[in-house]
Amino acid sequence: MSDQRVFNFSAGPSMLPVSVLERAGSEITNYRGSGMSVMEMSHRSKVFMKIFEETQDKLRRLMNVPDSHKILFLQTGATGQFAMVPMNLMGTTGKADYAVTGNFSNLAAKEAVKYGAVNIAASSEDRNHSYIPAQSELKLSDDASYFYYCANNTIYGTEWDYVPATNAPLVCDMSSDILSAPVDVSKYGVIFAGAQKNMAPAGLTVAIVREDLAGHELPCTPTIMSYKTMIDKDSMYNTPPCWCIYMLGLNLDWVAENGGVEGMQKLRQLRSGMLYDVLDHSKLFQCHAQPGSRSSMNVTFRTGNEELDAKFIQEAAEAGFVNLKGHRKTGGMRASIYNAMPVEGVERLCDFIRTFDKTNG
Ligand SMILES: *Cc1c(COP(=O)(O)O)cnc(C)c1O
Repeated sequence: MSDQRVFNFSAGPSMLPVSVLERAGSEITNYRGSGMSVMEMSHRSKVFMKIFEETQDKLRRLMNVPDSHKILFLQTGATGQFAMVPMNLMGTTGKADYAVTGNFSNLAAKEAVKYGAVNIAASSEDRNHSYIPAQSELKLSDDASYFYYCANNTIYGTEWDYVPATNAPLVCDMSSDILSAPVDVSKYGVIFAGAQKNMAPAGLTVAIVREDLAGHELPCTPTIMSYKTMIDKDSMYNTPPCWCIYMLGLNLDWVAENGGVEGMQKLRQLRSGMLYDVLDHSKLFQCHAQPGSRSSMNVTFRTGNEELDAKFIQEAAEAGFVNLKGHRKTGGMRASIYNAMPVEGVERLCDFIRTFDKTNG
């Protein structure tokens, strides 16, 4: 293995800022004079409680979360929320609307069927999830307990460029785009995200829940999967993922130092703009996502020739651009360019693509 850091285009777990890793490294055996690592301390200790509360506060400030919403630190994974959402919210009317625009919203809709009636309000399956349906195409029911969608489709590389207008509360999986742009949290009933894409190491799931929606869970809901329990116990019904919460806190400091979510949005547009521009001007490469639906976090592309794709992926890895192989559902390549991906990494990948295109095109 090389002792150089690589540009890691993994979809998740993914890159963290070097300064965050270095900070964590410097504090790993003795956290700020406590004589122990954050990994070793009681989650109820004063030292950890301070980390916990400060991390919650930082996230509230950065995302401008209103008082009507609680921030929860959970261990379920984003996938656990596919069950937790219907268990907690479906009871209101027994029905929910789902937009299926990729792998994870499809899994969420399938899970929800166990807890009530699921109306597929829209699906992009007809064109292998290469686009996002327009507002006018959403078939909304008038008695849905909530409307569910996934803001950025990590595998297919598409993103919603609008917030759906619905009467029912919005529930949104933001696993792969949270903290990458301003969001009007007041419009949402529940926002959730697995941390390992754009926030922290794997093991933490953040949920932002409008408090009045909690407390109506189905009787089958396990205590630990009740939003109400977790709100009442401030995410400490059991041991929370302490280390990941600490890492999130360090990463939130980094986001704040780099212009907050507005700063992240500028970088996101810069990185994805460069990459799509190079791909659009190439002879060899086509993008999976249709213009207007393209993700600025996960860029999916291919040559149409599997051998050439494999050659690209191998030569890129040798040049220090790793994890560019696409998911088997799309084939080809995928460059995941989350907050922590340096602009330089994308600039250099663009140069590599240009050269590859010239040499092989
Ligand atoms: C990665 C991902 C998931 C799955 O997350 P887990 O934490 O592994 O359960 C769900 N939704 C989206 C959008 C993702 O990118």
